[in-house]
Amino acid sequence: MNRWAPPTDDDPAATDIAAPLDITRLLTTITDNLVGMIYRCRTDAIWTMEYVSEGCHKLTGYRPDELVFNTRVSYDQMTLPEDRERVGRAIHVALDAGEAFDVEYRIRHADGRVRWVLERGVGLRNAHGQLAWIEGFIQDISERMAANEALHEAVRRYRSLFEHATEGIFQTTPEGRYLNANPALARIYGHDSPDALIAHLHDIPRQLYVLPERRAEFVRLMQEQGAVRNFESQVYHCDGRIIWISENARAVKDADGSVQLFEGTVVDVTERKQHDAELEYQASHDSLTGLPNRSLLRDRIEQAIGKAQRDGHQVAVVFVDLDHFKLINDSLGHHVGDRLLLEVADRLIGCIRGHDSVARQGGDEFVIVLTEQHDEHEIIAIVSRLLEVISQPWVDEGQEYGLSCSVGISCYPQDGDDPDALLRCADAAMYKAKASGRGTYHFYTPELNQAISERLELENSLRHALERDEFRVYYQPRIEVASGRIIGAEALIRWDCPGKGLIPPDSFISIAEETGLIIPIGQWILAEACRQNSAWQRVGLPPISISVNLSPIQFRHAGLVSSVADALAQAALDPAYLELELTESFVMQDAERINVAMQALKKLGVDIAVDDFGTGYSSLSYLKRFPVDRLKVDKSFVRDIDSDPDDAAIVRAIITLGHALGLKVVAEGVETSAHLDFLRQHGCDELQGYYFSRPVPAAGMEALLRGPTSADCRCRSALAAPRQTAGHETDFIF
Ligand code: C2E
Ligand code: MG
Ligand code: MG
Repeated sequence: MNRWAPPTDDDPAATDIAAPLDITRLLTTITDNLVGMIYRCRTDAIWTMEYVSEGCHKLTGYRPDELVFNTRVSYDQMTLPEDRERVGRAIHVALDAGEAFDVEYRIRHADGRVRWVLERGVGLRNAHGQLAWIEGFIQDISERMAANEALHEAVRRYRSLFEHATEGIFQTTPEGRYLNANPALARIYGHDSPDALIAHLHDIPRQLYVLPERRAEFVRLMQEQGAVRNFESQVYHCDGRIIWISENARAVKDADGSVQLFEGTVVDVTERKQHDAELEYQASHDSLTGLPNRSLLRDRIEQAIGKAQRDGHQVAVVFVDLDHFKLINDSLGHHVGDRLLLEVADRLIGCIRGHDSVARQGGDEFVIVLTEQHDEHEIIAIVSRLLEVISQPWVDEGQEYGLSCSVGISCYPQDGDDPDALLRCADAAMYKAKASGRGTYHFYTPELNQAISERLELENSLRHALERDEFRVYYQPRIEVASGRIIGAEALIRWDCPGKGLIPPDSFISIAEETGLIIPIGQWILAEACRQNSAWQRVGLPPISISVNLSPIQFRHAGLVSSVADALAQAALDPAYLELELTESFVMQDAERINVAMQALKKLGVDIAVDDFGTGYSSLSYLKRFPVDRLKVDKSFVRDIDSDPDDAAIVRAIITLGHALGLKVVAEGVETSAHLDFLRQHGCDELQGYYFSRPVPAAGMEALLRGPTSADCRCRSALAAPRQTAGHETDFIF
């Protein structure tokens, strides 16, 4: 029932208006029902209780009669010993000052548990004016204390989180002044303490952010969305460095909804950003040269096209492919190949202007994007310089190499309007440049597509030529000047390609080298030449030496020595009847290693000839150390031997040099009696050329060896009585 309900007629209290107020009863009722204990105690040493109210039982677990006069237990004993002295002192201080006291302490309840109590009281004097009692009230405040403790604990925990967090934590005004910052934030920005940070940074937008607009964006998001997530910005570190941070923050609003402050966390993401940038760089750049790679190249071409569209310029895509790179890479090793690519990258960079780009398309292919081109002359000027720069000799570890490249050019807008089309066209033009003799450039023309598809077709057919048995070996005799006899023959490959006729080696050997097909093809001709030579010997023909051309790629291949040994063994041919020809330019590359391989071949008992001699840059000292048996004078010197004094001098010098080194000298490309005369006169040892015979199939060679009238006789007669006029030449063709 509501204690304050108005009195009603049937309420006995309402009718009994005259009932006197029994204060004592009222006080007793209140006293007995109070949650807490009213007491009176003496001010003796153990605070002897003279009176305690009913609340005593709930507060202490003892009945009042057990406490009063310490019948069973004294209240003083109940007070925890560690609090007792403090409590006594506090009470005495207050009493001495004539004031009420107010003290919190712990007691041990009869149930053994500790309770927090609040005791309030005043001193009471006796008739003599002496302090004799205390009267007061003690209440249980354990729950409040526990709540307080929990609150303190929570505050301590949050404080610790704030202090020890690895993330920076802040509160700022919306204008950009710090209200609060933790040690981590100070550390991230390079300040000694949060206080130092707060004191130093009073204008966050201008002092902290590298781009004040970024702070403006932060504030805008906070105002509009009330929070930001992973908001990344560049800020200044105290030492002047620029670092990347990521912020998560929210706006704290007051009751009216206006923003009071921003609070949030900051993480230093500089390392991650650098890592991301590195990954992005790696994904878009070539790891060897550091140049943009294929994918970035496409972007660059697209950008250049976009700009050219606006400005009305042209864009030239210049495809640069090194000539014979595969040879260098395969024969000298990848470390040399890599150094060469770095050198070429450097040279190309030196050829372009700031707004142009050089990229590595892959392998030995580079692409230059020339922007802002006005006409073809400008492009030609740049490309000519590029060819010139690349063709400068390259010296690596004391060894000099001649370089050249083939260049194909396509232009926006005439050849295409997207990167793929322009690259395809420039690639096609580059193949045309290669086919036209390398070391040159070619602009794209629509007809080139035809040529490219033909080359691809050729490459495809070449892959099947061996299994389809389409290769043929032709033989060209080599004649000894002294005896006039055929003492050898060079095995020269031909490809009998269906629908295309007999294809000469110059048209497919380089493709075979580029595709690696030269290895099985080279093995095949080696085996075939040995087999054929052995077969001729078995039928009793005069034994001759057979010369087989080796590609540098074969020479680099680990299995070369054993495949030569196998070919000899299979054919049961005496190694003395096999000669291997290596071109001079190759022999001079990586001479030391080649010397080792040559020695291994030499051990098998075969002869070694240096082919196309005079076209490379032989070092005499190497030549002396190599186990070489023959020098074959290149036919380009022989051709004009009788009309060009320079050529004549070179051939004379080669013959003298060869003899001085104890080598036989062979002249190739002997076409006329005048050639023959000159060579014989100057002591050339052996001859090879159309004057005696073109390369012929095995049957033709066999006929030459048998000869209806002995081939040797014809030779001898040619050598003994050379004809002076062109009309007689045919007499000497076998
Ligand atoms: P090479 O080894 O210098 O061969 C000599 C080339 O000169 C042959 O051309 C031959 O037909 C040609 N020749 C011979 N006498 C005369 C002449 O009096 N006048 C002119 N103008 N030329 C003459 P071919 O057969 O077209 O071979 C060209 C090149 O292809 C060879 O040059 C050789 O480097 C390479 N080759 C040929 N067969 C093979 C092969 O089986 N393996 C490898 N790796 N290369 C080969
Ligand atoms: Mg040869
Ligand atoms: Mg030759």
